[in-house]
Amino acid sequence: MNNQIKEYRNKANDIFEDIGKFACYTRGIEFQKDSIVKLTAFKEDVISEKELAAKSNDNDLANAFASFEFVTEAMISEFKMWIELKEENYNSAWDSLVDAQSYASMSMQAHETNGHLENYIRRLEVLEKVLFPPQLFFSDRSVISESTCSICGKSMDDCEHIKGKFYLGKQCYEVIKKIETIYAYDIVKDPANKKCRALTFSENGNDTDLMTYRQNDFG
Ligand SMILES: [Zn+2]
Repeated sequence: MNNQIKEYRNKANDIFEDIGKFACYTRGIEFQKDSIVKLTAFKEDVISEKELAAKSNDNDLANAFASFEFVTEAMISEFKMWIELKEENYNSAWDSLVDAQSYASMSMQAHETNGHLENYIRRLEVLEKVLFPPQLFFSDRSVISESTCSICGKSMDDCEHIKGKFYLGKQCYEVIKKIETIYAYDIVKDPANKKCRALTFSENGNDTDLMTYRQNDFG
């Protein structure tokens, strides 16, 4: 392993150990806010190293820093979730949990230095099930007529980049340029986007908030 990756591996371990003890509901909100400050400082350091590595065309190093960036972002999102739960901002707390899950998977995809986040991802899945009620997810069925590669800008059919793979610290994804038609919205169990969900449901003619079960409460 590259020496610089080792150095940041150790730095990351120290920070994660230091703030890890605050990553649960009962710990003081001031410590949780302070943990976000510490994680954000580390993330900014990592992003500037990632940009340097990308400039010098070091693909492996840039991807390793992207991986540190996303694992740190995942933990920032988790702390946001705990804080938002305490402040009773349940819809924001849900979004933060979903962000934490996406960032953790991106971190694993970016580089092997964070290739073993399965336990962390499983923990976030457990939190999803015990902290929140079952959700009603939607998924749209659509025809995409134009999309390009986020790395080179060419049509996805004409370029050699692979969707999901990292190149100099940037993930390749499909940029949707034009949606021809959306022909259905389905209710699904395993959605592509867990933020695409029902906020209320109708009971006895009243709008009921799915998170709190309160009527006409859109907190
Ligand atoms: Zn491409």
